[in-house]
Amino acid sequence: MRFVDSHLHLEGPGAADQLSIARATDCLLVSCGVDRETSAITLRHAETFPKVVKAFVGVHPSEVLKDTGLAWMEPALARAAGVGEIGLDPKYSARGPGTAQMRVFLAQLEMAQAAKKPVQVHSRDSARECLDALGGFGISQVLMHWFQDEGLVGEVVDRGYFVSFGPAVLYSKGLQRMARRCPLGQVLTETDFPVPFGPLGGGLGPALLPSVVFKLSELWGEEFEDARSTLAGNAMRFLGLSEKG
Ligand SMILES: [Zn+2]
Repeated sequence: MRFVDSHLHLEGPGAADQLSIARATDCLLVSCGVDRETSAITLRHAETFPKVVKAFVGVHPSEVLKDTGLAWMEPALARAAGVGEIGLDPKYSARGPGTAQMRVFLAQLEMAQAAKKPVQVHSRDSARECLDALGGFGISQVLMHWFQDEGLVGEVVDRGYFVSFGPAVLYSKGLQRMARRCPLGQVLTETDFPVPFGPLGGGLGPALLPSVVFKLSELWGEEFEDARSTLAGNAMRFLGLSEKG
């Protein structure tokens, strides 16, 4: 497996195309649910294409207020590679202590810890709150997905968490500075498909991964192939799989 999209969403239209691209380019897709329904779809993809798709299941902060409880999560998690996309985000609703967002986030962290599975954390405008919540658990495999808080990147790295970079690293100077500060062994690549990247002409999906790897190799002063192989190995460690996958 040459490239890994450590965070994308395969539940909507366009998923079939992304699966074909992934098969043609020897790319592993780590697809995240955002609620019960999308988690079920993502599990079906992983069970249909086990070599191409790994499924994460969870309730995203945007879906917390629509959610009808987490009883479905435990059996879903037994079939999944990990828990995600979960986290905190004030854009959707209050996320302080005792709120629905915080309760659902903590409950899912507890399930990940009990199942000994990795988590993918969404922390937009909530990096401090997410790190504080994570600090209460002993989860060893944590991905801070599309992490953008330069002031806290040192703490994230010290904790041994992974940080993912996507197509925005091709044009964002802030993300390029952050990527230089992250040890090679703690970085993962992602695209957050179906998110479009306007500065790239609306480009989207795993077809952008080789460009992301090239940019990271340039920032680190590494050969492309060395960076590619390190990044692929990092993803296997995050997922708890052997290097051969
Ligand atoms: Zn996402």
